[in-house]
Order: sequence, then structure tokens, then C-alpha cells
Amino acid sequence: MGNILITGASGGIGAAIAEAFAKKGYNIVLNYNKNEQRAQNLAKKLNQNYGVNCLSYGCDITDSEAVKKMFEEIGDVDVLVNNAGISQQKLFTDISDEDWRKMISVNTDGVFYCSREALKGMIRKKSGSIINIGSMWGEVGASCEVHYSASKAAVIGLTKALAKEVAPSNIRVNCISPGVIDTEMMNSFSKEDKAQLVEETPLMRLGTPEDIANAAVFLASEKSAFITGQILGVNGGFII
Ligand code: NAP
Repeated sequence: MGNILITGASGGIGAAIAEAFAKKGYNIVLNYNKNEQRAQNLAKKLNQNYGVNCLSYGCDITDSEAVKKMFEEIGDVDVLVNNAGISQQKLFTDISDEDWRKMISVNTDGVFYCSREALKGMIRKKSGSIINIGSMWGEVGASCEVHYSASKAAVIGLTKALAKEVAPSNIRVNCISPGVIDTEMMNSFSKEDKAQLVEETPLMRLGTPEDIANAAVFLASEKSAFITGQILGVNGGFII
């Protein structure tokens, strides 16, 4: 089918995306930062269960030199999923310089570095698909998550501008904008908070990592061949 790199594949959504692409027969590179064991276990599972070529690769995507090296070592990719991300809840006036820099460097700089490297091969081949994982808070803003919302809003702007720039090379760039998805990123929320979020969601449940993975498979496939520069909300109707 092709080669795919998924950043943050040691996390909840990234792992589900990896499994969905393994089912489609892709060769997969699972990028991780700290959680080597989890990425290695997933690679093993996908190799065994789906017979695909799957390897894990540790790289901090905030380090542009390390990202360059990663792409030199893994070679060209047909699909890049910029999924790695961090979140934090703080009052705006409590956000430190360091908090702000860290948020922007993982959620925005990382997307820039990885996309720039992936595009070298895609432009040469005149084909490719980049899928960014944004957030509905990048569309409408979240109280006490201003730096997170700003970092994801930047990803939306990047998606739209880059889609225009690389479309003549037959490369598509889209963004999935998840609502509330039940992963470890939600661990700081209490049971009551989660119940409240379910209440606020018209489809009356939290999203699953598989909901996001299904959208990613669609955006990488020929079925979405005429779709680029779009922000696809996968949020159960939380924001419309
Ligand atoms: P998660 O389970 O916390 O996973 C985050 C992933 O990002 C991990 O694999 C982590 O790697 C990786 N990562 C963090 N910093 C990194 C760095 N510097 N370099 C490389 N990788 C790094 O989170 P998730 O819920 O799956 O979130 C995935 C994406 O969906 C994020 O972009 C998030 O903003 C977005 N999203 C999530 C939700 C939600 O409700 N869960 C909603 C909207 C959007 P290690 O663990 O190996 O360090």
C-alpha cells in the first residue's frame, strides 16, 4: 500500500491510527518520544497480527536535527500523520514562558519539522498525503487551555496554507479536529468531568481513538482524492 510515519504512535490515538493502517497493509514507522516499550510492543503486535513491516523509532519532534536524521534513516513516506501532541490546563496568567514554549514546540514546531522533511520525497514523487491531528479547541478556543488552543489553531492555519502550496505537486494536506477522545490525555479529568463532557456531546458519548483512526484512513485513501486543506471535525457534534 505504501509507507506511513505516525508521530506519537506510543499514545492512544497514534496507536489506533497505526493499527488501522496496518489492517490496510501499510509499512509503518511508529514514532515515539519517551515510551519506547509501548512503541516496541505495538510494532511487534502489528508485525505479528497483520504481517506488515512495522518498526518503532524514537525521536523528539521538537529537535529539528533529530527529525532530519529520522527521515534520512526511514526513507520516503507516502503518508505522514502528525499526531504527537501534549496538553496542559492552566489559567492563562499562570502559563510560564517554559509552558508556552513547550506547548508550541511539540504541537506546532513538530508539525512543521516533520512535514518539511516528509515533503522532500513527496514533491519528488509528486504524490503524498499529510494528515495533521488538530483539536476542536484550535477552532473555538478552550478556557484554561490558551496555549494548547493557540498551538492547534496554528496547525489549522498551516494545513490550509500548505495545502494550497503543494496541491500542484499532487500532495494533499488535511487536518482531523478531534473532540473529546478517551485516552491518557484525559487522565487529569475526573469521572464527573467526563460525564459532563458526555452530556455536552450531541452523540452522547466520548470519542474513541478508533473514531479518529477511521477518519485518517479515509483522508489517506483515494476515496478522498479531491479533498485538501480541510478541517474534518470528529467530535460527536460537540462543535458544529
Ligand atoms: P497521548 O495518549 O498523551 O499521546 C501523545 C503522544 O505524543 C505520545 O505518543 C507521546 O510520546 C507523543 N509525544 C509527546 N511529545 C513528543 C515529542 N516531543 N516528540 C515525539 N512524540 C511526542 O495523547 P492522545 O490523546 O493520543 O493525543 C494524540 C493527538 O490528538 C495530540 O496531538 C492531541 O493534541 C490530539 N487530540 C487529543 C484529544 C483527546 O481528547 N485525547 C482531543 C483533541 C486532540 P511518548 O509517550 O513516547 O513520549
